[in-house]
Amino acid sequence: MRSLLLLLAAFPAHAQIYDILLKNGHVIDPANHRNERLDVAIVGHTIARVGKDLPPEKARTVVDVSGYYVTPGLIDIHTHFDAEGAWLNLNPDHNALPNGVTTAVDAGSSGADTFENFRRLVIAHSRTRVLAFLNIVAGGMYGPEIENDPKQMNVEKAVAMVNKHRDLIVGIKTAHYQPPDWIAVDNAVKAASLTGTVVMVDFGQKPGRTYQDLILKHMRPGDIHTHFYGRVTPQLDDQKKIQPYMWEARKRGILFDVGHGSGSFWFRIAVPMIQQGFLPDTISTDIHKSSIMLPHATMINVMSKFLNIGMTLEQVIERSTVNPAKAIHRTDLGTLSEGAGADVAVIALENGNFAFLDSGHGKLTATERLRAALTIRNGRIVWDEDGLAATDVSRAGPYSNFR
Ligand SMILES: [Zn+2]
Repeated sequence: MRSLLLLLAAFPAHAQIYDILLKNGHVIDPANHRNERLDVAIVGHTIARVGKDLPPEKARTVVDVSGYYVTPGLIDIHTHFDAEGAWLNLNPDHNALPNGVTTAVDAGSSGADTFENFRRLVIAHSRTRVLAFLNIVAGGMYGPEIENDPKQMNVEKAVAMVNKHRDLIVGIKTAHYQPPDWIAVDNAVKAASLTGTVVMVDFGQKPGRTYQDLILKHMRPGDIHTHFYGRVTPQLDDQKKIQPYMWEARKRGILFDVGHGSGSFWFRIAVPMIQQGFLPDTISTDIHKSSIMLPHATMINVMSKFLNIGMTLEQVIERSTVNPAKAIHRTDLGTLSEGAGADVAVIALENGNFAFLDSGHGKLTATERLRAALTIRNGRIVWDEDGLAATDVSRAGPYSNFR
């Protein structure tokens, strides 16, 4: 009787019809401490239910994802997707969704003078949720002449632009600044403080401008150092031991983000750091026209690298979903909570002989690889490499894909 009542409570007379039901997958949803076989039901744009043995007869589309992992849509907080702007940038949908990424944060491709074009020409037309760190350089990421010009580091302009576009701008970026002073970092921090947002810092150590001072004095708790397995900041001593100030910075709340890119991920730095227990807070790609090629900095590939270095799958997923959501103060994302937006990644874990390159094209041979098999963005299947939601042609009748 009790179970019948529960059943009736779950399916009242106006029984909910699921639009999509992902059946038999292994859900990893670190935000909700889920790591087990569960079904995921979607209604409209929303996660409606996550539970055991949800009834397939209540679903319009049942997708059997046995043997796959089901995770929140991945969040890549370091991308370059201002495809109409800076020359190195890529189109968001073609480079995010096929890698399981449903939320991509552009990392400072545009500044106060160029962001509105980015919004109008790219973000507005992307199925991917594209958010942004606004470059403290008003002209954006358009080469050394602009990016090294202190007159471009305009706090008031940046603050005004963030306040005008709070739905999309999650923080301030500083990058590529060559002169040995602190104006780029300090102005970025000022603009972020005045808007209650976070700073993402790309930093090269110079005489008189040390990495230690950056992470212990200039950045605030919650600010993000990206490229932290790169070569232009000293994380390790000569014996490959982690510098004490790294632990101190982590303790004071500085976040360390991968930002793989063309030049910022080296196995000879990442492996000893991870072996000594210094894992990234967030995994991200720094994906652009160059990094997507030889080091292959796509989200799912970068995640595969960390899996093969020795992180668990749950640790990898946590750093690609709930952690980046928290880092950008968007805890509504990166979760399969009931009521959350229906952004989902269905991921295959494959065994075989694989190889992964780092920024120096050093090779790590490996036996496991992650692959984004199916992506759901805002309740719609937008990527289905294995045809999981498709009907076999022998049973499809006089089918048409025009709906
Ligand atoms: Zn970048």
